[in-house]
Formats: sequence, structure tokens, C-alpha cells
Amino acid sequence: MSELNGQHDFHVVGGSFGGSSLAIELLKKGRSVLIADFAQPGSRVKCAGGIEMDSFRRAALDIPHEHCTRGILSLDGQLYDKKIDYAVVDRRDLDRASFEKAISLGAKFARAKYLSHDPRGKKAEFLVGGRKETIPFNHLVLSNGFRHKGRNIFFEPYSIATVEIVKGQSPHPKSLIFIFESGKMNGYYWIFPMPGGCLNIGAGSVTDFPGIEAKLRKFKENYRLRGEVLARGGGVIPLYPSLLPQDGSVTRFGNAAGMVQPITGEGLKYISRNSQPFAQVLSEGGSVNLRWLTSGSFLKLALSTFFLRVCFCGGNSGMSLYVALAKLATKLADWRRI
Ligand SMILES: Cc1cc2nc3c(=O)[nH]c(=O)nc-3n(C[C@H](O)[C@H](O)[C@H](O)COP(=O)(O)OP(=O)(O)OC[C@H]3O[C@@H](n4cnc5c(N)ncnc54)[C@H](O)[C@@H]3O)c2cc1C
Repeated sequence: MSELNGQHDFHVVGGSFGGSSLAIELLKKGRSVLIADFAQPGSRVKCAGGIEMDSFRRAALDIPHEHCTRGILSLDGQLYDKKIDYAVVDRRDLDRASFEKAISLGAKFARAKYLSHDPRGKKAEFLVGGRKETIPFNHLVLSNGFRHKGRNIFFEPYSIATVEIVKGQSPHPKSLIFIFESGKMNGYYWIFPMPGGCLNIGAGSVTDFPGIEAKLRKFKENYRLRGEVLARGGGVIPLYPSLLPQDGSVTRFGNAAGMVQPITGEGLKYISRNSQPFAQVLSEGGSVNLRWLTSGSFLKLALSTFFLRVCFCGGNSGMSLYVALAKLATKLADWRRI
């Protein structure tokens, strides 16, 4: 019998920033929580680590960060800039610190792989140390990331992004730099300054998945980013929010609920913003669906998804539309041409 079997108000699958943040808020409300993850939280570089300063402060985690006050956008070869207020962290630090905070508040942890669940019988199946275990749950939270089933950008839209942490200085210190590839909807890149004289460099793609590693290599050559590679990572980004994250006694959160802004690829701020309200409703035994559907987060994500899908439908001309609309948005949102 493993740790999984004890009585807990909430079994949370996934001890990354999503699962740990929600666990922290549930624990603050006096609920008991067990976190199950097949990996040690904080062991993988999952993202670029850019998080709006307000949301970073709300998470209240004492970890090194680089304060970025300028956003630079390259659209069709033209540069724009804007004042921003963001933190860049090492994603491993963020996951590790939020997980450790949950543990310090009383969460239990089991190294276990979730396999499936039966919502009516309120039972979930896990793999623990090579053996299957079926355990009863009161409420199951799935914060286990996003799983894509197909490659159809119309029905299962997602993007793939790859990331490296390298030694080096940014060409524009204190800035988040985004570069959109011209002509086709198949590439975007970023250079974020990280604490400790490092850079987070990455490439993402909405349509050209197999070429993504080569794209990052070429991007690094073009920008002469030759620093030593300290770590590599990446993953899949969902491009649509869940309509109904809660189904009875099972709730999805974070990437598992599509809480990612599809245009910028940001998910951390939505986790930080929504963990408290989700925990509030869940700890009171209510349904999060209505709360979610009427929230500003859901509205923003749904509108961005719609916008992106309109662009995807047009193939290369869709990318031209995307760039044209993005240029219009730079005017409306006060970006300055530089
Ligand atoms: C390259 C890249 C760059 C990005 N950059 C940014 C950025 O700069 N800013 C930003 O805000 N967002 C960014 N994102 C998006 C961000 O990474 C996600 O929104 C965020 O990781 C979601 O966190 P999560 O905890 O919901 O899911 P995840 O981080 O995917 O965590 C899921 C957890 O569940 C565990 N798990 C999975 N399956 C099981 C299972 N069957 N059983 C047990 N445990 C399981 C995993 O081990 C993991 O710990 C980026 C994404 C990528 C891929």
C-alpha cells in the first residue's frame, strides 16, 4: 500500500506549478491534499519562465528572477517596443519552490503515475513502483499537463516549443524579445534574460513540428547565440481553453484545462490568477464551471483562440492576416516602432 491510499480531501495529479499552486490554496483553506507525480517536481525545464510581475508576486515564492521592463517584438522584420513589467525565472526553480511550499503546508506526495479514473465509482488507477493500484478519491484534480490526440489544427490545436538555457548576455538587457518568422505561420522565437548571466532561448511552431529543433539551431546561428548550453527542455502548448473544467468530482487545472494564452504561449499567469478562485469554489464543494466561464481569463483565452483559428484557416495568407492584425494591435496597445 502506498501513500496514495490515505484519506485526503483532494488527490492532485501533477506537482508542477499548476498542481502545486492549487494545492497550496486548498491547504490554506484547511483541506488535506495528496500530490501524485511520476517525476520529481522541478526536474525539467518546461518553459521560458516569463511571468507577469503581478502574478509572480501573487505566487509569493522566494526564487531568483530577472526583472524585465521592456518588450521587443519583431514583426515582418520591423521592430517594436513597449514598457512591460515581467519576471523571468528558471522554470525548475518555480516548480520546485511551489511544490516545496505545498509540502511545507502539509501536502503529502506520492511518486506515482496516474493511468485512469472512474468518475462514478470515484476511483483512480495509478502505477506505483511498477504495480497498478486502484484508490478511492473524494475529489480528483487533474493538473497533469496537456495531452494531444491528433495533429489537426482545426480540432486539436496545439503548438510545440523547444527551449534551451545558455550562458550569455541578451542583445537587449532587461527585455523580453519575441521574433515572428515572416511569411508562414510556422515559427516564432524568443530570447529572455535569466538570473545568473544566462539566457532562455526558444522556438515554437504551430504547424511545422518536426523541424523545430533545426529552426532553433538556425535561429541561434543567425543571432550568434553561441553560449554553452546548460539545459534543454520544451513541450506542447494547448491552444484552446476547456469549456467545462469540472466534471462532478473531477477538475482539470493549468495546462490540463487549456489555461494558456494561445497568442503569447503564457500559462503561468493564468495558473497564478486562477488557483485561489478555483480553490475557493472547490473547498466549498461548489462547481468551478460557472465561475470559469464568466471569468476574465476564460473570455481572453476564448477570444484569442478564435482569432488564432481564423488565421490558421488561411495558411500562408492567414499568416499575413496575423501579421497585419498584430501590427494594428501594436498601434492600439502603444507599441513604439524602433
Ligand atoms: C517551450 C515552452 C515555453 C513556454 N514559455 C512560457 C512562458 O514563458 N510563460 C508562461 O507563462 N508559459 C509558458 N509556457 C506554457 C507553460 O509551460 C504552461 O502553461 C505550464 O507548464 C503549465 O503548467 P502545468 O503545471 O499546468 O502543467 P505541466 O507543467 O505540464 O505539469 C504537469 C505535471 O504533471 C505530471 N504528470 C503528467 N502526467 C502525469 C501522470 N500520468 N501521472 C502523474 N503525473 C503526471 C508531470 O510530470 C508534470 O509535473 C511555455 C511552454 C513551452 C512548452
